[in-house]
Amino acid sequence: VKSYPPALVRLIAAFEDFPGIGEATAERLALHLLKQPPAYAASLSEAVSAARAQIRSCRVCFNVSEGELCPVCADTARDRTTVCVVEGPRELLAIERAGVFSGVFHCLLGRLAPAEGVREQDLTIDALRQRCGKGSVREVILATNPNLAGDATALAVAQALSGTSVVITRLARGIPAGHTIELLAGNVLEEGLLHRVAIGGSGRAATASANVAPQRGAQ
Ligand SMILES: [Zn+2]
Repeated sequence: VKSYPPALVRLIAAFEDFPGIGEATAERLALHLLKQPPAYAASLSEAVSAARAQIRSCRVCFNVSEGELCPVCADTARDRTTVCVVEGPRELLAIERAGVFSGVFHCLLGRLAPAEGVREQDLTIDALRQRCGKGSVREVILATNPNLAGDATALAVAQALSGTSVVITRLARGIPAGHTIELLAGNVLEEGLLHRVAIGGSGRAATASANVAPQRGAQ
């Protein structure tokens, strides 16, 4: 016998499609699954189907959502003049959990990775440009991860918005290089937001602290 039964091969192949999962891990996951009681597989497959059916992208910011608008966009108390641009829902949630930002978000749904076939048009940059062209957005904070791909992505977003009137800022470099937004402690995120810097300018953004919790109302 040179290979597993076809149904198992198919299951392994499905796991292998996950990011960061290689053949050996996929094989281990599939065999693990088959050791569990049948009810486990049924519940897993039901959870996958339910999430797929019930979760969609927020119409405005592309965050994961059960309704047309995600909870952030549906919250009328949020400041819609400041948009924090993140790579995806994980980074959005990390900033939400830090509790230091009262503006709204825009999820790019990825980062530029030409080697993996992710190009600018695969991200939601065009939707962001349209959002910023409507006049109500004053500042866009680029909060992509502080690594090569994140920097390249931030640059592409900044270039795409260069024709609009929004002020473009970036999280301060107090964010340790190589870290990811989702793993940063709340106080580090807060520092990064408070001391964000204008892109293309020399100083800090004039509005820098307006939408970060401790300084709210100080303007
Ligand atoms: Zn939203």
